[in-house]
Amino acid sequence: MRGKRILMIPGPIEFTDEVLGEMGKATLSHVDQRFIEEFGQALEKMRKVWLAPGAQPFIVAGSGTLAMELAIANLVEPGDKALVVNAGFFSDRMADVLKTHGAEVDIAPSALGEVPGVDAVRTMLKADKYKLMCITQVDTSTGIRSQVKELAAVARSEGVLSVVDGVCAVAGEELRQDEWSVDVALTASQKAVGVPPGLALLVAGPRALGAFNARKTPVRSYYCDWGKWLPVMEAYEARKPAYFGTPAVNLVRALNVSLGQILEEGMELRFKRHELGARAMRAGLKAMGMGFVPAREDLCASTLTAPWYPEGIDASVLSRIAAEGVVLAGGLHPEIKARYFRIGHMGASGATEILATLGAIERGFAASGYRFGAGEAVAAAQAVLIKG
Ligand code: PMP
Repeated sequence: MRGKRILMIPGPIEFTDEVLGEMGKATLSHVDQRFIEEFGQALEKMRKVWLAPGAQPFIVAGSGTLAMELAIANLVEPGDKALVVNAGFFSDRMADVLKTHGAEVDIAPSALGEVPGVDAVRTMLKADKYKLMCITQVDTSTGIRSQVKELAAVARSEGVLSVVDGVCAVAGEELRQDEWSVDVALTASQKAVGVPPGLALLVAGPRALGAFNARKTPVRSYYCDWGKWLPVMEAYEARKPAYFGTPAVNLVRALNVSLGQILEEGMELRFKRHELGARAMRAGLKAMGMGFVPAREDLCASTLTAPWYPEGIDASVLSRIAAEGVVLAGGLHPEIKARYFRIGHMGASGATEILATLGAIERGFAASGYRFGAGEAVAAAQAVLIKG
């Protein structure tokens, strides 16, 4: 379509027509029984998407950073020790949020392109008395995926709460909050959950709620206090009106539609589709001679890919790719910003968008003078997609 570009950045992403249609509907009162029903349904669906049957979901207006603060403000008391498993840019942000709320923060370090090993994290947890550990499931700056399952198991066995920043992961990467003993998993609407930006989404397990209830000091944030939001979430789920802050009515309705579409696809198929799409994307880029920021294949995320620019190509290629109809993102990690780019492939975007993206990358690279066999990237990705 003339002028139409597909948005293949790591959030916001392409949204389905049904989700966008919900956004355009007349706004209901936040205490209209029809809205109360939809809010209640959305909360119930979150438990299924997070695979956390016994946990408490929260839907609050705000971005992913608010979701981070919604976790930390309620779990941390001044002087508590927290360990941040460093995966890149957004782990640094989590450390800042922790310090803002009075935590003493240690970092499990990692080299660029790597994540800290599970054994190294276990050793750190055993060496000190930590209250919680934070893991970024997918670092959006590097396309690296952490070993959430293994890390959360170590945290649980050491009696430490685990908080997973799943902003670039939930509803795309495999996450089984209950089975993996993750205490809090959070995200934002604009990524694999598939709703325009504006909702902070968080699911807190029983141990996290227990730690909140056992606080000796008040929460040092008015807006983030679970004590303010819990009665609201409980009321909506019981299909009763409640108020603390006016909910983002149209976004919540769109969330209910999107979560319904996610569950219709099914979590297992959705995890597999994202993994396959990422493999196809990497095969295409490799065929053009590109490598990736993550040091190893098993560290590569399913929701985004971060390729190094090949020799002779720089960020100016991104506007050529955009002119070919696909919007990609530049580098974000401060140390390597100018040397790589990022492609988001999550949510409703699937095989069609991956092939269209590789086609636009081929044409953009060709316009930048890069030499390769026309169609090589598309063919390599198509082979992966067909094989499954
Ligand atoms: N954590 C991760 C892993 C992210 O990717 C992002 C956003 N890209 C955030 C946190 C912050 O989310 P937001 O920009 O919605 O505040």
